[in-house]
Amino acid sequence: MKPMETAARTAPIYDTAALQREDSLHYLHPFTDHKALAAQGARIIVRGEGIYVWDSEGLRILDGMSGLWCVNVGYGRKELADAAYRQMMELPFYNSFFNTANVPAIKLASALVKVAPPHFEHVFYTGSGSEGNDTVVRMVRRYWDIEGQPQRKIIISRHNAYHGSTVAGASLSGMKGMHAQGDLPIPNIVHIEQPYHFENGHGLPIDEYGIVAARRLEERILELGPERVAAFIGEPVQGAGGVIIPPPTYWPEIQRICDRYGVLLASDEVICGFGRLGHWFGAQYMGIRPDLITFAKGVSSGYIPLGGVLVGDRVARTLIDKGGEFHHGFTYSGHPVACAVALENLAIIEREHLVDKVREDTGPYLKQQFEALADHPLVGLAESCGLVAGLVLVKNKRPVETFAEELAVGMICRGYMFRNGVIMRAVGDRMIIAPPLVISRAQIDEMIGLIRRCLDQTRQDLKSRGWI
Ligand SMILES: *Cc1c(COP(=O)(O)O)cnc(C)c1O
Repeated sequence: MKPMETAARTAPIYDTAALQREDSLHYLHPFTDHKALAAQGARIIVRGEGIYVWDSEGLRILDGMSGLWCVNVGYGRKELADAAYRQMMELPFYNSFFNTANVPAIKLASALVKVAPPHFEHVFYTGSGSEGNDTVVRMVRRYWDIEGQPQRKIIISRHNAYHGSTVAGASLSGMKGMHAQGDLPIPNIVHIEQPYHFENGHGLPIDEYGIVAARRLEERILELGPERVAAFIGEPVQGAGGVIIPPPTYWPEIQRICDRYGVLLASDEVICGFGRLGHWFGAQYMGIRPDLITFAKGVSSGYIPLGGVLVGDRVARTLIDKGGEFHHGFTYSGHPVACAVALENLAIIEREHLVDKVREDTGPYLKQQFEALADHPLVGLAESCGLVAGLVLVKNKRPVETFAEELAVGMICRGYMFRNGVIMRAVGDRMIIAPPLVISRAQIDEMIGLIRRCLDQTRQDLKSRGWI
């Protein structure tokens, strides 16, 4: 279908209704109720520039979610398109099986270990974050086999974690809805409490609660028997679970417990990596020393699929020196075009000092502006960390009273966001953002202004329904 250009619009205009019909005829969307979507029609995004996207009707929308936590350098970056074009013309694909390699995959591995914590010298590539976590599961088990402790099989994760949607990724994830579909989790994956003070703190001071939540890991290790526990996996800040920011005491205590029982620590940095928390990796922000780091999303700013695992020395030395062949890998492990785009993406992050900018400028500024939303009558809590932030919609602030789940208040609020030209995601009644790392202070002001307006409209709406 050929888009019509009109002078007044900054994006091409499409026949939205026709596209929506065609969409619902053939396209099964991820994490979607297809019948409900067909009745409503998808919003079709047609263009992006900087921190904004445009839909097929010409509405400009400030993308507070960086696509899906990934378009960190913003939309419309010609450098990334050029890198892909050059590499496609030179060598669009070659595999890394059978003792071969390609130049971008080699160069990217060097670039990644340069920004990773010092004890990381090796990289395993995948096509996505889910495949990265599948690789973690296989690598962890392989490690313990080689080390002569094959009974160390159990991986401990957390309720409400998100680690992907493959069979192993969904098993590591702690999402009830996912586990209910397809006999998950697979054996030897167990879950402990998430460090969510708002829900689980029961009035404990936040630092104290951080220790209590971390000790759930120790309790579970002792219950299962330390000789059976292979690894613990967690996101430094839980993303899809609703931007759950742990108390500052949590991760150091997790590290202590992993060290004490010799349990491997895997940090899923698919969201937190590449500057999102103002450091190259969330592990650095949290002050921990993981053995494995899963990455994806921000590594290529989402311009092309790429993921992988940074492998720390403890695991790498065993795999390399004692392991022989590791029977694992993907056709697209080390895809030359994906690696070329990622290399250029890392160069942009460095050139534009995006990691420092988040840590020293936009992160603290967002914190100040976003956390001020806590004065809104509908907001029970507003918190941020680097360039992720979340707020909780509540019925009553003092004492805190939340809305019944079935009212789906978050979805009502999300509707107002879209209509006002800002994307904020709803996870239950937690409204969350993760804007592109290139966002400016003025754009943060614009975003917060739009969010405040939507909160006002949501409140009016809920009042007219008699829900508050
Ligand atoms: C998105 C995400 C994944 C899964 O990555 P995909 O590329 O969608 O497979 C895994 N872990 C975390 C923390 C994520 O946010």
